[in-house]
Amino acid sequence: MTESLVSVGAVNFDVEKIRADFPILHQQVNGQPLVYLDNAATTQKPNVVIDAISDYYRTDNSNVHRGAHALADRATVKFEAAREKVAAFLNAASAKQIIWTRGTTESINLVAASWGKANLQQGDRILVSAMEHHSNIVPWQLVAQATGATVEPIPVDSNGSINISAFENMLDAKVKMVSVGHVSNALGTINPVEKIIGLAHAVGARVLIDGAQAVSHWNVDVQKLDCDFYVFSAHKLFGPTGLGVLYGKLDLLNAMPPYQGGGEMIETVAFSGTTYNQLPYKFEAGTPDIAGVIGFGAAIDYLNAMDRVAASAHEQALLEYAEEKARSTSGLKLVGAATHKASVMSFLLEGAHPADVGVLLDKQGVAVRTGNHCAQPIMDQFGIPGTVRASFSFYNTFDEVDRLFAAIEKAKTFLL
Ligand code: PLP
Repeated sequence: MTESLVSVGAVNFDVEKIRADFPILHQQVNGQPLVYLDNAATTQKPNVVIDAISDYYRTDNSNVHRGAHALADRATVKFEAAREKVAAFLNAASAKQIIWTRGTTESINLVAASWGKANLQQGDRILVSAMEHHSNIVPWQLVAQATGATVEPIPVDSNGSINISAFENMLDAKVKMVSVGHVSNALGTINPVEKIIGLAHAVGARVLIDGAQAVSHWNVDVQKLDCDFYVFSAHKLFGPTGLGVLYGKLDLLNAMPPYQGGGEMIETVAFSGTTYNQLPYKFEAGTPDIAGVIGFGAAIDYLNAMDRVAASAHEQALLEYAEEKARSTSGLKLVGAATHKASVMSFLLEGAHPADVGVLLDKQGVAVRTGNHCAQPIMDQFGIPGTVRASFSFYNTFDEVDRLFAAIEKAKTFLL
């Protein structure tokens, strides 16, 4: 570990203090202290989130918006307070623009099904980048099949960057939706979404940004970005699984038909015709994940109390430190070398299958992900079955990066 990097990580950011908030990190796996480097798959949860969920079930458990008693009032107040927190976190103009979903996947499916079916027709074009997660490809393919639209990949260069001039050349009045990730989960590339949004808007297209891998690394301002939709999952932002967010522009959400029918999303129901509730409830059929939402509110409070700029600088220093070590590790090849990257180091060990590397790292207590990372098209383009992916969060340390590379060296003695 280099002293200069230690000081980068330590001056403004007390990583040991942060680690104390995450109980899961303090355990042994296969006889070694756990090194959790699978943060792009899901982040760990601080005590305040775990406590908020358990407190809700211990003291407030009730259904929201409909009960005429104290518990229902308390649950509803906390549930709606979390929505306000997310709106402020994203700098959305109104909490009505924050729709609770099951995750990024459902948020994209909601937009594709509701906005897509109402706005797409034969010959319309949907553009997604070639490095998208499957959840930002398949929902568009489904709506394309239903409407006669097409889904086309925006080319990605060999270093893992969107080819912006190719994108510009693809744009015409038939392009109705551009849907791209803010940060690639497979390569770590930070995409120039402001530029993409401006170019897409110039031809009248709408833009959805998949923020699943971005929101945990810096503060996103949806009004500044001017995106039409922004989506992410709570579980990748230190909150619970099974919960996600869809932010949308008010006029678009108001004009969109419901996604699912049921309780909560209606105003009146009659066999002669049903009328729908206002935003955001129009898109929230059925009993929501109340405990999850309240736990997520605690995650947002936790992040707001943190120096996020320092946290981000610490993560960036970890990535640079790891990539520097990777470049001097024989037999190791980095996959994804965009100029701007966030917290993801994808790599291959020459002559070894990524899955075997993953098993040998796990035996040494190091948790990484292996495979195509639900981004098969970009793996196919690179001609590889997948990668080993180490992904960092602010609670990771330089010592853990050293442990990763020591484990890689040991794995090499078995594999190469
Ligand atoms: N988009 C990106 C960029 C992701 O990294 C992921 C998860 O890995 C998803 C979408 C899907 O998220 P979820 O499974 O939480 O719906």
